[in-house]
Amino acid sequence: MEVIKILWDEIILFLGVDGLLSVFQSGDYSSLLTLKGIQTALAPVIPLLLILEIVRALLYRRFRAADYKVTTLTYMFNRFVSRFISIAAVAFCVGLFGRLALFKSTFTWYWLIYGYIVWEFAHFIYHYLAHKVRLFWCLHSTHHAPENMNLSVTYAHFFLEAPYADVIRTSICILAGVNPPLLFFIMFVDGFWGAFIHVGDNILSDGRLGFLQRIILTPSHHRVHHARNPLYMDTNFCNLLNVWDWVFGTLQPEKEDVAIEYGITRPMNPGSFLDMYFGEIAALWRDVKNGPGIKNKLLYLVMPPGWSHTGEHKTAKMIRDEFRRRNLNT
Ligand SMILES: [Zn+2]
Ligand SMILES: [Zn+2]
Repeated sequence: MEVIKILWDEIILFLGVDGLLSVFQSGDYSSLLTLKGIQTALAPVIPLLLILEIVRALLYRRFRAADYKVTTLTYMFNRFVSRFISIAAVAFCVGLFGRLALFKSTFTWYWLIYGYIVWEFAHFIYHYLAHKVRLFWCLHSTHHAPENMNLSVTYAHFFLEAPYADVIRTSICILAGVNPPLLFFIMFVDGFWGAFIHVGDNILSDGRLGFLQRIILTPSHHRVHHARNPLYMDTNFCNLLNVWDWVFGTLQPEKEDVAIEYGITRPMNPGSFLDMYFGEIAALWRDVKNGPGIKNKLLYLVMPPGWSHTGEHKTAKMIRDEFRRRNLNT
């Protein structure tokens, strides 16, 4: 019976309904009108959408267990390790950098705009490095390995990625004066939107969201980010406001005539949890082992994926630039 109880608790936690259940039990519905209450009410939305996505796929006979297998295994593995490290990392950075903050902001709408722009900048830095530094790509590639887009992809991350991302994002925001309650609110909105943009075309076939695509980052933009097509590689690093993609020239809208191919360019076994989780680390290890001299070995760790000591580089930037040169009108 103990096992059933543990499983039940895990299901409740995954569905995000634990907060709502305690509100129902207490009968104190007024708490739902507070900021924390709104967060409690929204927590089950993404898990429920994921279930809806799977049910729809089943009804239309488009469900393929392989699309969900590795992402589910990753979620289960991470459930045990990463969340706790990440929470500890955020608390540590808030304590460490709080005293060094340039100034102190408060929880108001104008500081929210400021805080969000700073947060997006910090997110851009973390995400850009995750794609451009081979060692960090080893942590991030797990999220890019799935060859299909659906909401379970939002749970597919290497367990050390969340702490690494949160250390960079929290440190920059705290140093830039974003006050902690405001930061936690931004993290909540970001987490919600960051999950939603992985909605599959089962539920939302056109992810551009009409006029919204002009002002925010839509599921369509993030589908492009997950694509391995030469035109789409290493673009759209932002999460909700794509202001920094615009500033740094990495904004790439989805093009009607370039159908998205999800996944990474390395040949891999998409049904293998081990390949998805450790495949890039194994590939890096091989390159470091075979690289001549200590300098080349170290360069493999910090240069972008595709860099080679032989000079025959195949980085995402080179592949994309080459594609755009050949198709001048893109
Ligand atoms: Zn990415
Ligand atoms: Zn993603």
